[in-house]
Amino acid sequence: MARYVDLTAEEQRAELARLREEHAAFKARGLALNMARGKPASDQLDLSLPLLDVLRSDSDLTSEDGTDCRNYGVIDGIPEAKRLMAAMLDDDPENVIVLGSSSLTAMYDAMARCLDFGTGGGAPWCTLPAVRWLCPVPGYDRHFAVCEALGIEMIPVPMGADGPDMDLVERLVAEDEAVKGIWCVPKYSNPGGVTYSDEVVRRLAAMECAADDFRIFWDNAYAVHHLFDDAADQDRLLDIADTCVEAGVPDRYLKFASTSKVTLPGAGVAALAASPEICDEIRAQMGAQVIGYDKINQLRHARFLRDAEGIAAHMRGHAAILRPKFALVQAKLHAALDEAAVATWSDPRGGYFVSFDGMPGTAARTVALAREAGVTMTGAGATWPYGRDPEDANIRIAPTLPPLEELDEALDVFACCAKMAALEALLA
Ligand code: PLP
Repeated sequence: MARYVDLTAEEQRAELARLREEHAAFKARGLALNMARGKPASDQLDLSLPLLDVLRSDSDLTSEDGTDCRNYGVIDGIPEAKRLMAAMLDDDPENVIVLGSSSLTAMYDAMARCLDFGTGGGAPWCTLPAVRWLCPVPGYDRHFAVCEALGIEMIPVPMGADGPDMDLVERLVAEDEAVKGIWCVPKYSNPGGVTYSDEVVRRLAAMECAADDFRIFWDNAYAVHHLFDDAADQDRLLDIADTCVEAGVPDRYLKFASTSKVTLPGAGVAALAASPEICDEIRAQMGAQVIGYDKINQLRHARFLRDAEGIAAHMRGHAAILRPKFALVQAKLHAALDEAAVATWSDPRGGYFVSFDGMPGTAARTVALAREAGVTMTGAGATWPYGRDPEDANIRIAPTLPPLEELDEALDVFACCAKMAALEALLA
């Protein structure tokens, strides 16, 4: 079998007929498999069950500064939780505000505060004629949903192997004062698994922005989510805070992280880090919203994970479960698609996703064919603002949730569908 583009039309039709039979056989099996959302698998969640035994009714529920964690108070987190989240955020505990359980909520709230009150002394963004936001693509659909819900206009910026296209970013932020910020998932990005290079981080800090209150939303959701234990096989990220301070724009960034994919999603701890001035601004604005978040949860997380080494040890347990799944994705896609040469995909060293690019015009069809055969994928277009992938090429593969045997089957179905969609497009 040669590359699909090199086959004659007759050969392409014969191959398509063969794949249709394969697809029909998958359909007949009544499969119900899911590679749609980046959820931890149940054996990963098992790793964190001891978290539930850390605190009991006879435990000391006092934080190290003497706070009774059962009661109201402490708007920005108990000291041991600040230290723990500082380790995840690669920052100093005094620059950390510990929040509720979701970093997505933290990001939504941060953006809503900029709209309502402004930031860094600037006018509330809701009073401006337009607010625009740079969205590296492919990107995280829920980031785009936040902008859409808050009426912020999104501008896609292509991702490269080392981060967003910085020539374009620099031009857009310099020429348009309505461009107020950028989404960044700087380590093991969702979905491409890309880690920003030092040069990209430096250029983000150094670039001239028309808006004085330009903000980098630095969503370090996968900061500690390596697939490999050896430091030489792990990505390393330059710290945006230090880099912004060196560039003379200490207020430019807001870092976010959570323990959702460290312990238990929805029952974890979320936090942000920012400059002392921006932390003051946020604490003051938050005061109208909350008296103090869940300190019992902060306390048990701090006692369970302890510190950077405790987090790293726990994450090695996750990696041991995830590594074979990511390896299977690579092995199966190569085996099924290399000869046909109709797709490319990422091979990340961490994070939760593989980003798949089929032939232009085939992503929606591939996802629809997979659904017909009982395999749910993230919707085509989800990785682009407004759900519109102009090439209709990108599909996010989320291999973490299904057990290995199910993932194996789901990948067979997916590869068959990607090839069918490619041949249909070639024959159209
Ligand atoms: N940020 C990114 C990049 C994610 O991929 C996810 C979850 O998939 C989240 C944030 C959600 O985080 P949380 O559970 O803390 O709201």
